[in-house]
Amino acid sequence: MAISEGVLAELRAVLGSGGVVAGDDPVAGFVRDERGLLTARPAAVLRPRSTEEVAEAVAVCHRHRVPVVPFAGGTGLVGGAMPVGEREQVVLSVRGLDRIRSVDPADFALTAEAGCVLTDVQQAAERAGLYFPLRLASEGSARLGGAVATNAGGSNVLRYGMTRELVLGLEAVLPDGRIWHGLRSLRKDNTGYDLKQLLIGSEGTLGVVTAATVRLFPLPRHQAVALLALPGLESLGPLFALAREQLEDRLSALELFGRTGLELLLAHQSGTRDPFDRPYPRYLLVEATAAEDGAGLAAQLERFLAEAVERGLAADAVPALDRPQARALWALREGLPEAEKRAGGAVKHDVSVPLGSIGAFIEAAERALAAAFRNVRVNAFGHVGDGNVHLNVLLPPTRAPEVSPLVHRLVAEHAGSISAEHGIGLLKREALAEYRSPLELELLRTVKAVLDPLGIMNPGKIVK
Ligand SMILES: Cc1cc2nc3c(=O)[nH]c(=O)nc-3n(C[C@H](O)[C@H](O)[C@H](O)COP(=O)(O)OP(=O)(O)OC[C@H]3O[C@@H](n4cnc5c(N)ncnc54)[C@H](O)[C@@H]3O)c2cc1C
Repeated sequence: MAISEGVLAELRAVLGSGGVVAGDDPVAGFVRDERGLLTARPAAVLRPRSTEEVAEAVAVCHRHRVPVVPFAGGTGLVGGAMPVGEREQVVLSVRGLDRIRSVDPADFALTAEAGCVLTDVQQAAERAGLYFPLRLASEGSARLGGAVATNAGGSNVLRYGMTRELVLGLEAVLPDGRIWHGLRSLRKDNTGYDLKQLLIGSEGTLGVVTAATVRLFPLPRHQAVALLALPGLESLGPLFALAREQLEDRLSALELFGRTGLELLLAHQSGTRDPFDRPYPRYLLVEATAAEDGAGLAAQLERFLAEAVERGLAADAVPALDRPQARALWALREGLPEAEKRAGGAVKHDVSVPLGSIGAFIEAAERALAAAFRNVRVNAFGHVGDGNVHLNVLLPPTRAPEVSPLVHRLVAEHAGSISAEHGIGLLKREALAEYRSPLELELLRTVKAVLDPLGIMNPGKIVK
């Protein structure tokens, strides 16, 4: 849908003619979401190259009441970056803001712009001998601005926390076009409400993140990885306790997947091989990392594996003997979304429950789904060390309205969350309205109304 020529002319005056893609120009990539569930056609795609250009473009949109949808890597899984709604909308891509502004080893901090691809941020830290720990299977495409806006999690949360815990400061353009300069690197700063935390995880509804200062850590030069075959889910709890006790704060990942997942990989991912000589119902990938003392780390992991098997918590265990073997074990876990896609897709759930309830929750969900849908297969996997399970039901994604309410009800019964790390966007908005209390929903709307009284910043996402 076209927006008025007058508005486009104002936007071109700010961004240059190459900075505004409109009309019949190709807007591929901005019309279909990552999962292929939604399609949209933005009135225009804006491509600013600096914070000032973002601010001026947003100010034009604010003056003319044109809704703005921030867009970074486009890997979000809940339709948050899709320009869908009753009003015509423009997409504002931050990909042109792609500079690493500074790396400060003395401060263990790095400042990068919102359009930097996560792997570029990781590499910039590594060049300074340091580590940026945000690790997602989408890290080659997802951008820093998108990760901040979704409070991304991933496979390192157990040790380093969510994006929320990694961000020290932010720079953002507010819905009226003003720039908030909050790029501080302080670890301690109790000067009123923590404004950056409002923007982190706000999914583009409160402003456009243009840059972030993030925490860096000593580079974990040594890595020890193993895959455990579990007799059943009841051993998860004692295994968590044992892993924490034996691997202490070197423990960096505990990732679960099941036989269903491994069979998907064997069928749809060429080169996959079963690391064990017989099938097991569940598998747990364990990773520990350390900056120093690789031999000590390997010995620690070995002790953990030996005790896990001796106590009957694991039926078998395969340690990775070198980096390629570690990568091959990780590829099993990380290949699951792609294998699922190739197998025809799934009704996906990204949920969390308290650590002590994970096994009971997965089993209850599998039982309930088997009773409700004949011959259904469930691919339950995820960052279980954080209580996060991707409980994906191998049915066409269009069947979500039948399947998801059942899963979400069980999540609520286990005191969990219907969105652990992917956010709400468009696809989980109705579920959010059901599972957050009226007071919580009122507070969310109040924050939105204060920061964006005209409702132009990514309207219709998270709450209506
Ligand atoms: C294979 C695969 C694996 C994944 N694994 C994980 C995982 O382990 N953990 C996890 O948390 N997520 C995961 N994701 C989801 C996704 O990669 C993350 O949500 C990621 O943070 C999105 O970043 P993006 O740059 O692609 O954002 P986009 O998809 O472009 O946008 C996501 C949301 O953020 C908003 N937004 C984007 N940029 C800005 C900005 N600069 N300012 C304000 N708002 C903005 C958008 O409007 C939208 O609401 C995975 C996705 C895929 C495809």
